[in-house]
Amino acid sequence: MSIAPEQEQTRDLTSLVEELRAVVGDEWVYTQEHQLRTYESDGLLQYQGIPAAAVLPGSAEEVQAVVRACAAAEVPFVARGAGSGLSGGALPVADGILIVLSRMKRVLDVDLPNQRVCVEPGVTNAEVSSAVAPDFFYPPDPSSQIVCTIGGNLAENSGGAHCFKYGFTTNYVCGLELVLPDGEMIQLGGKELDAPGYDLIGAFVGSEGTLGIATKAWLRVVPAPETTKTLVAFFDSTSDAGRVVSEIVQAGVVPGAIEMMDKLAIEASEEMAHAGYPVGRAAALLVELDGAERECEARFEDVVEICERCGSDDIRIAKDEAERQLFWKTRKAAFPAMGRLSPNYFVQDGVIPRTKLPEVLERLDELSEEYGMRVANVFHAGDGNLHPLVCYDGRKEGEAERAEELSGRILDVCLEAGGSITGEHGVGVDKKKHMPKMFEEPDLAAFQRLRCSFDPAGLANPTKVMPTPRLCGEVPGPYRVHPLEAAGLAERF
Ligand SMILES: Cc1cc2nc3c(=O)[nH]c(=O)nc-3n(C[C@H](O)[C@H](O)[C@H](O)COP(=O)(O)OP(=O)(O)OC[C@H]3O[C@@H](n4cnc5c(N)ncnc54)[C@H](O)[C@@H]3O)c2cc1C
Repeated sequence: MSIAPEQEQTRDLTSLVEELRAVVGDEWVYTQEHQLRTYESDGLLQYQGIPAAAVLPGSAEEVQAVVRACAAAEVPFVARGAGSGLSGGALPVADGILIVLSRMKRVLDVDLPNQRVCVEPGVTNAEVSSAVAPDFFYPPDPSSQIVCTIGGNLAENSGGAHCFKYGFTTNYVCGLELVLPDGEMIQLGGKELDAPGYDLIGAFVGSEGTLGIATKAWLRVVPAPETTKTLVAFFDSTSDAGRVVSEIVQAGVVPGAIEMMDKLAIEASEEMAHAGYPVGRAAALLVELDGAERECEARFEDVVEICERCGSDDIRIAKDEAERQLFWKTRKAAFPAMGRLSPNYFVQDGVIPRTKLPEVLERLDELSEEYGMRVANVFHAGDGNLHPLVCYDGRKEGEAERAEELSGRILDVCLEAGGSITGEHGVGVDKKKHMPKMFEEPDLAAFQRLRCSFDPAGLANPTKVMPTPRLCGEVPGPYRVHPLEAAGLAERF
């Protein structure tokens, strides 16, 4: 099933493809359908498309030459890391070039005294922490960290379980080397924190591949905590578990992570991880404290007391690193494990103020009943970042469309609660239609002006993020139809 039907390819890009072969070598340019199918979607399988060619550059200079060639031929391009994104951000554009950064996986510099590491964009998130272990680590930790790349993390401003205490990707980037959409290479910042001038790094992080391609990143790493204490507590209602989250925060405790799973998510995860979780309980709360040993011990007692007071009669404390890893494996298994309970599922990503957790979860139950579809909930509870998983059977006529509609209604609930349409998975192609629910036209116009200042020709990841793709105003000289207009992918702004 493909919600976004594949677009027809209409242009002959033979000479551009020949030029790209000359840049990166024959073996790193794919044009055969069976090769391109590898890249037809990202982690959100509902959207599929085939590019004219996929190119795998091996260096920043090759990325620059590839982008220059695309710019000269006025051909759109899309950057791709590991393709684990969940909003269709790396979905290829027909008649466009997919630039796959996975070969660029060198750790270029590890400077522990200054707490900096410099990497190429294809390095995975987990490899950054490995490069600085055991004394340091890189805190933003998406659950996909063993496969997702730093380039993708930058583009999505990725978060993870430990972002409640430590912050998101944007808090850890101090320098970037970028290839702009016209092929110019620039450097923003470097090893130092907070370079003077406009915060262009801040603008780039989270820009979903629309402002250029990152070819190098200087990242900040932090000392590994002296100790870590982890528990999982089970509850008879998600409201009780939600109350624990609020009480922990109000008590001034700042856990490294507070993660929640509901009944269906517990059931799915247990099937995969076999951690001995009690299937049938309404909610599981994983709380992790890290830091100085004595402070951790004292605060951990507070957390246990709050869990008990809010109704938990089953609190399991990790007795060693192996058990801690098992708790985390169970939590991180939640998305893939859902495939065991349902033939298909749609991953949603919304944010709410965490105090609204109980009422929002109640509303999601009502929606689940209204649509006759099961919705599992897994979330970064400390951040109020929900990941409802809408289960459906794609073999049944109309179910995929109804699941997508239900996912959209879930975002409406998040917005009504004062939240946001995405916490960490980005807008991509999937959520662009929801952007006007959150932003007024002047806000969208401001985004567009920023985008145009980086990419006046509109070639970098077009058709993503903005609800109606637009071009960047009239260029001096006679009007000519832009290739994206001709393909019906954009309108003049
Ligand atoms: C099981 C699972 C769990 C997940 N858990 C989390 C989680 O906890 N937190 C979270 O934040 N996300 C999570 N994700 C989503 C996803 O892993 C992240 O968004 C990740 O950052 C994507 O990285 P990637 O390398 O796969 O990027 P891709 O999917 O390949 O691309 C994502 C976007 O980045 C752009 N891009 C890629 N490389 C570059 C570059 N070098 N320069 C400019 N733009 C670039 C692409 O054009 C696209 O718009 C999860 C996904 C899965 C499948």
